[in-house]
Amino acid sequence: TQAHITAVERARALNAYILETPERALAMADASDAKIAAGAARPLEGLPLGIKDLFCTEGTKTTAGSKILENFTPHYESAVSANLWRDGAVMLGKLNLDEFAMGSSNETSAYGNVISPWRRTVDRVVSDAPIVPGGSSGGSAAAVAAHLCLGATATDTGGSIRQPAAFTGTVGIKPTYGRCSRWGTVAFASSLDQAGPIARTVRDCAILLGSMSGSDARDTTCADLPVPDFEAAVTRGVKGLTIGIPKEYRVDGMPAEIQRLWDQGAAWLKDAGATIKEISLPHTQYALPAYYIVAPAEASSNLARYDGVRYGLRVPANDIVGLYEKTRAAGFGREVKRRIMIGTYVLSAGYYDAYYVRAQKIRTLIKRDFEAAYAAGVDAILTPATPSAAFGIGEKASADPVEMYLNDVFTVTVNMAGLPGISVPAGLDAQGLPLGLQLIGRPFDEETLFAASQVIE
Ligand code: GLN
Repeated sequence: TQAHITAVERARALNAYILETPERALAMADASDAKIAAGAARPLEGLPLGIKDLFCTEGTKTTAGSKILENFTPHYESAVSANLWRDGAVMLGKLNLDEFAMGSSNETSAYGNVISPWRRTVDRVVSDAPIVPGGSSGGSAAAVAAHLCLGATATDTGGSIRQPAAFTGTVGIKPTYGRCSRWGTVAFASSLDQAGPIARTVRDCAILLGSMSGSDARDTTCADLPVPDFEAAVTRGVKGLTIGIPKEYRVDGMPAEIQRLWDQGAAWLKDAGATIKEISLPHTQYALPAYYIVAPAEASSNLARYDGVRYGLRVPANDIVGLYEKTRAAGFGREVKRRIMIGTYVLSAGYYDAYYVRAQKIRTLIKRDFEAAYAAGVDAILTPATPSAAFGIGEKASADPVEMYLNDVFTVTVNMAGLPGISVPAGLDAQGLPLGLQLIGRPFDEETLFAASQVIE
């Protein structure tokens, strides 16, 4: 823990942590020492972790990357972080993120962007140009990649665990919707949000997910299922499994190196005993537009609670409407305001059927595509995790927001269908930046994902 505290202090230029909590870390580490001395070590005893600042931490500020929660100190602990502390893990601090987890580059945080520890190498010269770590769990991914924690919590609404993991050469799993409790995690889009770990190896992810997940009566969408021994699944291999390759993910303009990596991943799985099968997920092309209706719709509703009355920022005004307006104008950033406006629009009378209801119907069709593939004997599906490697800071932030949204083409389908998905580092691009492959599984079959991604890792 002390070594990590020092490493975090030395790496402040990356801006991975919004808040460092060294006193809490050392107190937890002391408690771990006592457990070990008493011969009563728990499964994660003394392991120093970072917590995405979307998880409420009792007595420790939780900002969600937003100015509107700058001075919010929860008086309760999120279910996921509480599970980690129950198992003996140590909290190093709260990790930076896109504001309310909206973004793909960690450039929308009110606390500044996160810088990836990676750099491009062109003609054997390492470039100085800073690279994004991906988003929204950019602080989690950068901290894990830069050894500023052993593992981190993250959340994924449309790709925010898998895309930053792919951009930083780390492993990230979004489990099945309902595997982890959402209780005490700041809500973005409640029917899509799911917590999961980012870590440096598949095995570390399996161990962390085992601790983070589990039933919880306080979240009615949390599944009442036993938590499998994920760690045991890691070395299970892929012999006899059928891995689907969906042809619709071969999108126009996909860089040749991504296609090569994808073929290479399929070859590795085949060599390890899996059968590779071309499959079709015909509604894939509608996933991204449907996601950018459903997610903002739910966000506009969830974010209505930030009104300057109950908690968070309050900008005084003469009347209640003025209080709402001034507080929300000052407290929310541009991307959050854009989502609230889109969400309010698609939910409004006259547009609800044309946009929101249609997006929900598309969501069902996307889910059925996956169900058909699994019913036909496919055990897991292999795709690239992202359409490109990480980009430079500022390169896409100022452009058309839709360009940023395109980062999520390969990941949002998984959230729309509620399925588990893992991103595993699989190689480097021509400029030496990491690339990830994604494996998508059957509902509540994270074990197959751990087994298959271990073969690629
Ligand atoms: N990039 C996507 C968005 O901005 C996904 C974010 C997430 O998964 N939290 O909505």
